[in-house]
Amino acid sequence: MSGDCLFCGIVAGDVPADIVERTQGAVAFRDINPQAPTHILIVPSDHVPSAADLGRDSGETLAEVFSLAARLARREGLEGGWRLLTNVGPGAGQSVFHLHFHLLGGRPLAWPPG
Ligand code: 5GP
Ligand code: ZN
Repeated sequence: MSGDCLFCGIVAGDVPADIVERTQGAVAFRDINPQAPTHILIVPSDHVPSAADLGRDSGETLAEVFSLAARLARREGLEGGWRLLTNVGPGAGQSVFHLHFHLLGGRPLAWPPG
């Protein structure tokens, strides 16, 4: 837990959020400023600043995040297509420095992204 981290606060239950699911190592909650009909953030419970800080020992956490994403996509009815992405660094739009994956769907998703 990192003291001044917003998403650590959500994981700990100190900051309110619309929690979708909690697993042993990850928490999923709805984005406060949704960019699609489904916009869920999936965060590892342990504080990691970004995907740039992952290593070979992160495999279990990532497997949990990806299987949770697939389960939530099915539950949200996104069989037609969905996107799971993480921004790394301010130049890519990262604004919260606790690793999180955006699960987006429910509308056509253009490529390439902006
Ligand atoms: P980033 O820009 O770092 O990739 O994504 C951060 C995301 O966190 C943004 O989509 C933003 O809307 C969301 N966000 C920021 N503050 C809060 C909050 O307090 N609660 C929730 N649920 N989402 C937040
Ligand atoms: Zn954190």
